[in-house]
Amino acid sequence: MLRKIYHARLMYARPIIDSLDFAENGKQIDAKVPVAELSRLQELLDNPQGSLHYILQGGQDDQGRFVLDISINGSCQLRCQRCLKGMDYAVQHDARLLLCDQASLDALDDQEEEFDGILADKNLDVLELLEDEILLSLPIAPMHDLGACQADEGEDKQKGKRNPFAVLENLKRN
Ligand SMILES: [Zn+2]
Repeated sequence: MLRKIYHARLMYARPIIDSLDFAENGKQIDAKVPVAELSRLQELLDNPQGSLHYILQGGQDDQGRFVLDISINGSCQLRCQRCLKGMDYAVQHDARLLLCDQASLDALDDQEEEFDGILADKNLDVLELLEDEILLSLPIAPMHDLGACQADEGEDKQKGKRNPFAVLENLKRN
């Protein structure tokens, strides 16, 4: 019992990093976070189930600029915009972020730059960064695949025939 609580605490800790130091020293965080911990995400979700695995890796790009590479994998429950029911959504997002001071961040906006820049921060909240990246990566109008949507099922019933794949899909869910 005690052991379980200890693990839970470890998992829920909000890592704060000094981003330049993190990049300069090639540090890495490899961790899991429950979707429920990401508060800004909640209004886009059907429910807070799911968890995300992320790897944050500090380093330099080929021009010697300090970067953070972030890789996010996992799942969350979005709300289908057709039937308004929950749907499994696989989160898979990779990004490289250039660490900038304010001047170079402003300059970056004017350039055709391959990567996004963020302000170098001595107290960067890693979960905030994670949340920003996930919000950018989510579809604007998520929908079930054709045949798996409950809205489709209603239409099929009216036509007097059901899509056998939709039935299978429902069986798998239950
Ligand atoms: Zn649907």
